[in-house]
Amino acid sequence: MKLVTVVGARPQFVKAAIVSRALDRRRVDEAIVHTGQHFDANMSQVFFDELEMPAPARHLGIGGGTHGQNTGRMIERIEAVLVEFSPHAVLVYGDTDSTLAAAIAAAKLNIPIAHVEAGLRSFNRRMPEEVNRVLTDHASSLLFAPTQVAVRNLAAEGIAGDLVIEVGDVMHDAALFYGAKADQTSNVLGRLSLRPKDYALATVHRAENTDDLARLSVILNGFAKYGGKVVLPMHPRAKARIEGFGLRIPANVLVIEPVGYLDMVMLEKHACLIATDSGGVQKEAFFHRVPCATLRDETEWVELVDSGWNRLVSPVDADAVARAMAAAVGTIGAAIAPYGRGDASDRIAARLSEDGAERLENDPQVAR
Ligand code: UDP
Repeated sequence: MKLVTVVGARPQFVKAAIVSRALDRRRVDEAIVHTGQHFDANMSQVFFDELEMPAPARHLGIGGGTHGQNTGRMIERIEAVLVEFSPHAVLVYGDTDSTLAAAIAAAKLNIPIAHVEAGLRSFNRRMPEEVNRVLTDHASSLLFAPTQVAVRNLAAEGIAGDLVIEVGDVMHDAALFYGAKADQTSNVLGRLSLRPKDYALATVHRAENTDDLARLSVILNGFAKYGGKVVLPMHPRAKARIEGFGLRIPANVLVIEPVGYLDMVMLEKHACLIATDSGGVQKEAFFHRVPCATLRDETEWVELVDSGWNRLVSPVDADAVARAMAAAVGTIGAAIAPYGRGDASDRIAARLSEDGAERLENDPQVAR
């Protein structure tokens, strides 16, 4: 089985790292293509180094443009790489422009697409991620769904049968594997003089929050009104907007550069609360049993809200943000296990290994 994996953004490096390990164990020949969507060393290279990912076979260096520009350039360059490598399948992750570009390039070449994290929906088509997910799922030949909810979402769009496999969530696997490593290696708490459970951890990066002056101000004011220490590894997009809008960082917010995954896991584990608009960080809060307040109008990970591990707070009222954060501290949710047993990456690798390749080629869906 010869596979091309296309990644480009931070969350994809985490997911691909753990799946690559499983693919390697099963001797799948994998070439990684990095589109360049995230290019700062602390948003990209640190993940390849710390998570011991294979170096990209090709780095396309595409980033910094509009969604349309990036996606178009990526399709063109990925198509050339796929012609060169001629893989049995293309493996893509999540919901970024890199995901969609790879799916379109592969679909046009009749190369089967395997989508990890298939079936997630926010039902908000204004989010660029939602459009990317829907289109990628509909172009895919193998859909690795993380949860039952994701399987149901796909079925509601007419995608069902053998091509949809509920494998669990690869980020759960990553949290278990790299979480143990972080305990041994990360000294981030000491470096930042943080005491366990004495701080909240926050991340903000979604376009709907960072590109909107009102929402971004509410989030920062909400942190100020919460009052306790808030550690904020600052995403480059948030940094650019805060500077551009001329917003002030509240005194109780400790802004740091984006950190590597091992430090991030450590910061998550020892926070008293996580406030975030990240998809991945919401789940990681749950994996480490830390209460979470999600700074969005909706979430794809509805099971965490239903079970009480997470609560949604729209960033339209700073008092409401502060109240939701304060109320979350010390809470625990119901005992649920919606993300599998920590073997999602191995199940994906098994399906994609030699035997998997045969079945994939025989799958009638491939021909569509
Ligand atoms: N992350 C990290 N360092 C940081 C912030 C986030 O390693 O400074 C990790 C985080 O633990 C998670 C992933 O990046 O695994 C989430 O990425 P992001 O929030 O950018 O994207 P999303 O999950 O919303 O797609």
